[in-house]
Amino acid sequence: MRILVVEDERAIAEHIGAVLHTSGFMVEHCDNGPEAWELGGTEDFDVIILDLGLPGLDGLTLLKRWRSEGVETPVMVLTARGSWMERVDGFDAGADDYLPKPFRNEELLARLRALLRRAGQLAPTMRTAGRLAVDQRTMRVELDGRQIPVTPAEYRAIEKLATASGSAVPAKELSKAVHGHDEGSRNALEVLINRLRRKLGPGIILTRRGFGYYLSDETK
Ligand code: CA
Repeated sequence: MRILVVEDERAIAEHIGAVLHTSGFMVEHCDNGPEAWELGGTEDFDVIILDLGLPGLDGLTLLKRWRSEGVETPVMVLTARGSWMERVDGFDAGADDYLPKPFRNEELLARLRALLRRAGQLAPTMRTAGRLAVDQRTMRVELDGRQIPVTPAEYRAIEKLATASGSAVPAKELSKAVHGHDEGSRNALEVLINRLRRKLGPGIILTRRGFGYYLSDETK
């Protein structure tokens, strides 16, 4: 799950980023309107968290532009607590939910999950590959029906492999899904894959030499 956080107040942005990251989400941050407009319109995000007061282009105008351009990504607007005007304006502009500031981490995550649930009602949230099952809604990984504890980075790797439905994922692409960048992290990826292999046992994550990794479709 990839989330764009558009917020110009650095402390808030960093806080949201940290909360989401530890919950297994991949987070991209942007601190101004024009750049956010570009990113939200050209890249794929599962949710956009949008502050209203932004330099360059305010959040409401930005949201209206996205919607008029056909960008359908679910948007959660950050509003001042108690400001119903902002909320109404936000919904009118095409927001799917709002999050009043200041907020508790639990509230952020609960609203985000609810939003993803509503947005994903048409899309499958369970991915299976052989003995593995990945629940994208709860971000859980199961092997033979037994839950395997994974770190957020490990989850992102498994999810990426599981959504490839049996095809091999190039190492670079997998690394990008895990770390958000693809430069110089080949070694880090190998370390992570080895750790996952120890957790899952042999024969689950397979190597396509010189290319990348894929999940076994063997069911025993
Ligand atoms: Ca602001």
